[in-house]
Amino acid sequence: MEIRHHGIAVSPGVAIGPAFVIDTEGVRITHQTVAADHVSGEVSRLRKAFEVAATEARENRQRITALHGPAIGNIFAAQGSVFEDPGFREQIENLVRSQCYSAEYAVSRVIREFVRRLEESALRSVAEQHRAEVRRRAKDFIDIERQILVLLQGENTEPFGELTAPVIVLATDLLPSETADFSPRTVHAFATESGGATSHTAILAGALEIPAVVGLGRFLSDVSGGDMVIVDGEEGILIINPDESTLARYEEKRNVERSRADRYDSLRDKPSATSDGTPIRLLGNIELAQEAAHCLERGADGVGLYRTEFLYLNKTSDPTEEEHFEAYRSVVQTLGPTRPVVIRTLDLGADKFSSVTDAVGVEKNPFLGLRSVRLCLRKLDLFKTQLRAILRVGLLGKVRVMFPMISTVDELRQCKTLLNEVKEDLEDEGIPFKRDLSVGTMIEVPSAAILSDILAREVDFFSIGTNDLIQYTLAADRNNENVAHLYNPTDPAVLRLIKRVVEAAEKEQIEVNVCGEMSGEPLYAPLLVGLGLRQLSVTPRKVPEIKRVIRQLRVDEAKRLADQALSMDTARQVGSFLRDQLRRILPEAAD
Ligand code: PEP
Ligand code: MG
Repeated sequence: MEIRHHGIAVSPGVAIGPAFVIDTEGVRITHQTVAADHVSGEVSRLRKAFEVAATEARENRQRITALHGPAIGNIFAAQGSVFEDPGFREQIENLVRSQCYSAEYAVSRVIREFVRRLEESALRSVAEQHRAEVRRRAKDFIDIERQILVLLQGENTEPFGELTAPVIVLATDLLPSETADFSPRTVHAFATESGGATSHTAILAGALEIPAVVGLGRFLSDVSGGDMVIVDGEEGILIINPDESTLARYEEKRNVERSRADRYDSLRDKPSATSDGTPIRLLGNIELAQEAAHCLERGADGVGLYRTEFLYLNKTSDPTEEEHFEAYRSVVQTLGPTRPVVIRTLDLGADKFSSVTDAVGVEKNPFLGLRSVRLCLRKLDLFKTQLRAILRVGLLGKVRVMFPMISTVDELRQCKTLLNEVKEDLEDEGIPFKRDLSVGTMIEVPSAAILSDILAREVDFFSIGTNDLIQYTLAADRNNENVAHLYNPTDPAVLRLIKRVVEAAEKEQIEVNVCGEMSGEPLYAPLLVGLGLRQLSVTPRKVPEIKRVIRQLRVDEAKRLADQALSMDTARQVGSFLRDQLRRILPEAAD
């Protein structure tokens, strides 16, 4: 039966394919059914797997009891009794016989149904202790499923990192480091129970150009590995076991998307300017060096944000100066000598963990902790290594350096002092570097927005990071679906801060850019232009869409629109006003 879940759309596109459920990691269920003459073979495989699992559980119980006492050993006793329960196994066998399900698929179907019922019962229960107990039991069953699947597949287990056939990844949550390992060739989409629109995992989905939906709430007990699923990254929908008419509709939607992408291609070489001739520079946000090429393919005018911390993820040791240099060089050479490349210094911490942040230890509030430039100013060697590489690569193109998460004037001054020290070191060592490297700061902490008039005197450019600016202004975690209703780019508090920053930049005649996800949404483009922005940095894939809106806009009209939005009281009011306006300006984008 078709089941739908609604979540937060974070990376557009439609993908249709078999589910790979991460909590059974390493076990991909490759086929749901078998030919009728294979049914008895499947039943024997199943019985054998249950026998081995029961023996292993008994052995584990004895071993663990000897080591840690009976209380811990009994966990395996509970699992063992499931493996030894003939009624439980028969339920699975019946599905194999009646539906010709493969042993793996039948195991998953029965266990997932069981888990779903347990979770429902936990939800109904008023006693916290009982709820916790039932949830623990549900987790035990997921473990039981994984054990039997591993036994059934034996040598054929396909570790997640080595997938050979396309799948759609379904998980409770994904870390940015896990997502960075996805290959778009095999992972055609992903969907997660938790997460928010501007989480770094979501941003990576955009970078890898795979459709993704997050914040779906509990759905993993409704799905078995190998189930057919659809991820609609436009509408934020996950469909499990779609019926025929849904499948046909989504195949059609996929075709329409492909033809829209072809249409956008024709915009690539057209200027990015409003209909009355004001140029609006469109730059690309990248996380991986290879995305520099995506910027050119989509007609971006340069790189407005290079998130260099992705060089650190999934590494056991820190990158050397040469590794930094090589990554930057490849980006700068791809972009050529005249297009700007803004290299942002490390923004590790918060949800981007690495060996560097592991050394800091667990923090209670990592988004408010030793993150980003704060971490760099503690680990000066690390920071200097990166700054040396940036200064050196500066000779090869139009490179700029940008500091993230600046929250005080002193912090920015410390970064600039360090940059000067690094220049002196390079000078002493006779290593060539860019002497007058352009220096900018991100404005993504409310204190920086409030002090932007002072900060504007200290730098050559600003880049407003709305992803963090929104979360810190509204005290709403950007990764937490429970507060996603508060996390709103149209909140009047956010609009006022953006306006303030643009005015401070105009007064000191420095450039100002917006590089948060907000700038890649057609809905906000008229507002941002109206607020005075003449540069936007967006996921490369979004460049054509934004250009299309800009080419329909007149600056005076955008200014009026921004003034009206600024006079409104609530995010909801502003949001619906902007939707009406976009419908008028470019109906196709509003759809
Ligand atoms: C931002 O905060 O808007 C931003 C661009 O930085 P990141 O998303 O990497 O935190
Ligand atoms: Mg940020």
